[in-house]
Amino acid sequence: MVENLVIIGSGPAGYTAAIYAGRAQLKTLVFEGFCVGGIPGGQLMTTTEVENYPGFSEGVQGPKLMQQMRQQALRWGAMLITDDVIAVDFTQYPFAIASADLLEVKARAVIICTGATAKRLHLPGEEKFWNNGISACAICDGANPLFENAEIAVVGGGDSAVEEALYLTKYARKVHLLVRSVRLRASKTMQERVFNHTQIHIHWHSSPISAHGDKVLRRVQIRNTQTGAVSNLPVGGLFYAIGHTPNTQLFQDQLELDEAGYIKTQGKSTATNIPGIWAAGDVQDRVYRQAITAAGTGCMAALEAERWLSEQRSFVTFAV
Ligand code: NDP
Repeated sequence: MVENLVIIGSGPAGYTAAIYAGRAQLKTLVFEGFCVGGIPGGQLMTTTEVENYPGFSEGVQGPKLMQQMRQQALRWGAMLITDDVIAVDFTQYPFAIASADLLEVKARAVIICTGATAKRLHLPGEEKFWNNGISACAICDGANPLFENAEIAVVGGGDSAVEEALYLTKYARKVHLLVRSVRLRASKTMQERVFNHTQIHIHWHSSPISAHGDKVLRRVQIRNTQTGAVSNLPVGGLFYAIGHTPNTQLFQDQLELDEAGYIKTQGKSTATNIPGIWAAGDVQDRVYRQAITAAGTGCMAALEAERWLSEQRSFVTFAV
C-alpha cells in the first residue's frame, strides 16, 4: 500500500497541511511524533496563553489551540499516528518511512514539519519555573502578567536575544541582557538599539547558573565567565534566546540543509531539493518562527503537494 501523502510532525504546520490535504481529498497519513522533538502538537503544547494567533480575540491556551487544529485535521480525514519516525529513505521512490513502532510506509509525497527545539540551559530550578518565570519565547509569553513592570533577564547575544530584550521592554521595567562573552552577534542595527535603550542593561561575561523562587521565579544566580564570581540577580523572568536546533537529524544525509541544519526550501515555495518532498514550519524557518507562519507554510506545502501529485496523475482520492 502506497500512501499519497505522509506528513511528519504535528505542530501548526503539520496539522494545517493535513487540513488542506484532507480538503483536497488526498488520503493523508500524519506521524504526530511521540517524544522525539517534543510532545505531539509542537512547541505550543508547552506554552500557556497565545495572544497573537488571529481569530482568538481573548487569547487561547497553546494546548487548546493545538487540540483544535488536531480535531480539524481529523475532521478532514487525516489518519494520525502517534509515533516517532526513526528512519526515512528518500533515495527510493515511493519514499520509505519507518516509525519507532515498526510501521513501514511508502509515500508518493512527503511534507516535513518536524519543527525546531529552543535550546535550554538545563539550570538547576529550570523545570520548576518553566512557564512560571522561565521561557524561551518572549513573543509568546512576554505579556504574561508575571512580567508586567518586573525586572527580567534575557540570555544570549544573537539577533534573537536582542530582539527579545527589546520586545520585553514593552512589559518589563528593566531587562538584563546576559551575554557570556564580551560581544554581541546580533546585527549592528540591533546592537545600536540595545546599547541606546535606557531600559536594557547588558551584563558582559555573564551566564546564569541556577534559578530560585517560590511558586514563581524570584532570582537568578549568575557567574562571571571571566572571574568566576557568583552573584544574585533579582528577576521575575528569565528568557532563553540562545538559539534553536531544527529537528532535522533524520534528514541529514538525505536533504539539503543550511549551515545551521534547517531544511533549505526553494524560492518562495516550500519545495526541498527532492521533488515530492516539502518542508513547512520551523524546520525550514530560522527567522519568523511563529505559529501563524508555520501554519501558513503548512498550507503552502499542502497546496504544492496537491498540485504536484495531480501532475503525476498518481493519487487516489477518498470521500470525506
Ligand atoms: P545565534 O546562534 O545567532 O546566537 C546565539 C547566542 O546565544 C550567542 O550570543 C551565543 O553566545 C549565545 N549562547 C549560545 N549558547 C549559550 C549558552 N549555553 N549560554 C549562554 N549563551 C549562549 O542564535 P539566534 O537565535 O539569535 O539567531 C539564529 C539565526 O537567526 C541568526 O542567523 C540570526 O541572525 C537569525 N535571526 C534573525 C532575525 C531577524 O532577522 N529578525 C531574528 C532572530 C534570529 P556566543 O556568541 O558566545 O556563542
